Amino acid sequence: MAQHDPRRAIPRTDDLMRLPEVLKATQRLSVATVKARIRAAQDRARAGEITPDAVAGELIGSLEDHGASSLTPVLNATGIVVHTNLGRAPLSPAAQQAVTDATGYVDVEMDLDSGRRSKRGVGARQALLDACPAAEDALVVNNGAGALVLATTTFSFQREVVISRGEFVEIGAGFRLSDLMTSTGALLREVGTTNRTHLSDYTQAIGENTGCIFKVHPSNFRVSGFTSGVEISELSTVAQTAGVPLIVDVGSGLLHHDPEVPDEPDLRSALEAGADLVIASGDKLLGGPQAGLLLGRTEIIQKLAKHPLARAVRCDKLALAALEATLTGPEPPVPQYLHADPDRLRVRADRLAHLAAQAGHRDIGVVPHDGRVGGGGAPGVPLPGWAVALPETVAHTLRKGSPAVVGRVHDGACLVDLRCIPEHDDDRLATAVIAALDGLT
Ligand SMILES: *Cc1c(COP(=O)(O)O)cnc(C)c1O
Repeated sequence: MAQHDPRRAIPRTDDLMRLPEVLKATQRLSVATVKARIRAAQDRARAGEITPDAVAGELIGSLEDHGASSLTPVLNATGIVVHTNLGRAPLSPAAQQAVTDATGYVDVEMDLDSGRRSKRGVGARQALLDACPAAEDALVVNNGAGALVLATTTFSFQREVVISRGEFVEIGAGFRLSDLMTSTGALLREVGTTNRTHLSDYTQAIGENTGCIFKVHPSNFRVSGFTSGVEISELSTVAQTAGVPLIVDVGSGLLHHDPEVPDEPDLRSALEAGADLVIASGDKLLGGPQAGLLLGRTEIIQKLAKHPLARAVRCDKLALAALEATLTGPEPPVPQYLHADPDRLRVRADRLAHLAAQAGHRDIGVVPHDGRVGGGGAPGVPLPGWAVALPETVAHTLRKGSPAVVGRVHDGACLVDLRCIPEHDDDRLATAVIAALDGLT
């Protein structure tokens, strides 16, 4: 019986390692990685999912599919500018170059003049202060959530964070800002109701155990109707009287007001209105790398920087390099895509449809399509534009193609919106679209 067991025919690891394709892959991948792929293919045969004969082919396929990193670059044809599932903000060419330059040894904590140790992140700090002169000082940490935890624990460890009930935000994948705050020992003191919070709610809640007043921009939802909240300027007076800092989490990281997203708060306005500290994400509307930005009064930033937790949420050299270049270099893709000219988007969409028609796919239309800010920012704000409407069935082929193209599957169609495609990639996009349509017939 055992002699007929087909699993005995599964090729051995040593034999598979000697295949020319596998030997070639070991130039790109570590031996451990190649062996893990071999085991995966053998395991599939052991489980009866493939025949022993198919193991070598399966293995070679899995080695060809991937580079050393399994992250696949994609063309974002969804029209969603800050697409969380696609890595939020694409870096500007200047930021990409800065990241490449910082991959080796860099003077991130050394003054090359004196040869002595220097402060980490001085370049990014200065770039932030230049971009936002309303701030006296700035600190960069790993991400927005890290900035929030650092701020609340620094000012409200075992003390109360006074915060409106209408600002209890869940930011995605089940993460609640309130849980983040309490996780490091801050106590929440909720004031007001879901739809309305008044100045008196704050003043009544403030007492001996108040550590800070916290205002969160509810980035990803809107409460409309019978609502009211308290302005930063009013809260600032309350905070000053109580002798506690007013911390404002603006979320998206806009440096100053942008009429394209009129309700999105910005760092400068929040500081000018009287916030002592503002918090934002580096990879939302600022269009930079993942980072948490803290800007505000000097003594507040100093206190944050000295807290032991600051070390645990430290920003890495690649992000520091990218952030500085995002701020000092030419306009990054995110604001460009946010302000893309609808007429230009129409011309590009028409051209794509025309190229498809030339390739024999004559029934491809161009339809009005609203893009979105995404990343939890500016919910409901449409960004008018156009999309090429393809049959829904090509969506999968496009995603698995080379380059991978992610369109928006909606109402039985796969919509290809060019807003977030760099124009120099239009021809690659057209080639991918035509190949996917060819595959249908
Ligand atoms: C996105 C967001 C955060 C979290 O920032 P990350 O950079 O994603 O960690 C915190 N607060 C608000 C209001 C946000 O929108």
